[in-house]
Amino acid sequence: MAHPLVPPQPVIYLVEPFGGSVRRQNANMPHVFWDDAVVTRGDGIFETILVKDGRPVNLEKHLERFRRSAAQLDLPEPRGEQWRAATRDAVADYVREHGETEAACAWTMSRGRASTGVPTAWLTVRPPDPELARLRKKGVKAMTTGRGYSVDTGDGSAPWLALGAKTLNYTATMAALRWAREHGFDDIIYIDPATGRVLEGATSTVLVVKKGGRLRTPEAGPDVLPGTTIQAVFDHAAAQGWRCKAKPLYVDDLHSAQSVWLVSSVRRGVRVTHLDGTQLSTPDNEKEVAKLIDASLAAHPD
Ligand code: PLP
Repeated sequence: MAHPLVPPQPVIYLVEPFGGSVRRQNANMPHVFWDDAVVTRGDGIFETILVKDGRPVNLEKHLERFRRSAAQLDLPEPRGEQWRAATRDAVADYVREHGETEAACAWTMSRGRASTGVPTAWLTVRPPDPELARLRKKGVKAMTTGRGYSVDTGDGSAPWLALGAKTLNYTATMAALRWAREHGFDDIIYIDPATGRVLEGATSTVLVVKKGGRLRTPEAGPDVLPGTTIQAVFDHAAAQGWRCKAKPLYVDDLHSAQSVWLVSSVRRGVRVTHLDGTQLSTPDNEKEVAKLIDASLAAHPD
């Protein structure tokens, strides 16, 4: 347990990316160099994993996406046994040192130092942002917007775009979120301005609950990241009798839905209470849906 006057530090493990050592890093010491591509170019991939009841949730789904992202970006293939072991050790340290069982675990792999050309990788385990718990209770006011740039949706004219990979380049997303917050919104739902098709949240997947026990989400694709949380929710909800489908959704579908949620690993599920300034109706089954999302994350403790 940490000294009460010294806030506990995040747990950091360095992961040698070619299957070598995994070792604890002192959080007071820097471990990324000035010429690391993650610092100079934002060139790398990441995963953010929920730790609940002292265990990483959906670990295998995250590993699968991390592997896919690495392959798309010509980074070394993450070795499952190495990342699983590093995560297990880091979470155990965190639980022991913080006396808490809920956390956010982030995996990062960077193209590495320009001077060595060797990729760098590490993971951190730290307390979840307390704001997320507040938003889970209160809901979010979201605005819809285009991304401000168009994504090549797969006609092959820009094959180097690592679409579907979870890359670190979130500068435009963070700027959009700052803008939204300055204008009284909590979050953003991206739409395709040409068609009005709903894409995804700024850092989340859109989940729509419709009457008759139906759950809908936009299909993952070039401009919609395949989310691990929505996958877990659909697996669990389908087994509970919900009818789950990924299909095209439009802004009107959000307004006419029973409820609209943003889901992602550490956020879990937050309900959208207002969309573009219009209050969405409060469904009778709000608590049931929130529980369903939580239960689906408990149901996948790999
Ligand atoms: N879409 C985007 C753009 C994201 O950044 C995220 C998570 O960070 C998600 C969707 C949800 O992914 P997951 O459920 O795997 O956390």
